[in-house]
Amino acid sequence: MAPELDREHTNEPSLKEMTAKAIDVLRQNKAGFFLLVEGSQIDSAGHYNDSAWAMKDTQAFEEAVALAVDFAKKDGNTLVVVVSDHDTGGMSVGGYGQTDAKLEVLHRVKASGLYMADKLKADRSNAAEVLKTHAGIDATAAEAATIKNAEDAVHAINGVISERALISWTTYLHTGVDVQIYAFGPGSDLFRGLHDNTDLPHLVAQVLHIDFER
Ligand SMILES: [Zn+2]
Repeated sequence: MAPELDREHTNEPSLKEMTAKAIDVLRQNKAGFFLLVEGSQIDSAGHYNDSAWAMKDTQAFEEAVALAVDFAKKDGNTLVVVVSDHDTGGMSVGGYGQTDAKLEVLHRVKASGLYMADKLKADRSNAAEVLKTHAGIDATAAEAATIKNAEDAVHAINGVISERALISWTTYLHTGVDVQIYAFGPGSDLFRGLHDNTDLPHLVAQVLHIDFER
């Protein structure tokens, strides 16, 4: 599916809309339900080191979570667990000798690096124009040249944007850092603290009163 930044060019529903539909269907089951919603575009953005895409899809995921928590509050008998299976890209605030990020740079970005690279001419002579139109950036000659000469135009565009926003990345792959876990509703106390990822299905089974052998 499309990055949230590029979704307006498709007829795809948002993650929030799909979550609402799934809950509406599943809540009709009197025995209850288990629903897994994945904001997978955050991982994809990490693989491309695309800062604006990562933040925009984190926002789309947050809206889906808010809807689920809203349902759980009204229902009173629903547990919501929010967790990532891993980090991707090692995204961090700061870098380039700075300790702060310039988030206003990301707010001006209106398309993913994938989408922008697709708008480049074969010789990439319009790199500055593409950055201006879709990212609100007045590219320097050096930045335009970096994109023109790069082996991978997507990575080059995303690199220019991340450097301007002072967002750093360590890899195009998954990392091994700890990730956050949040829980709301009955049984949420079980999810406090530091957990091994393989503990989580057992904790969910415990809340659901399902016999699940270790
Ligand atoms: Zn991945």
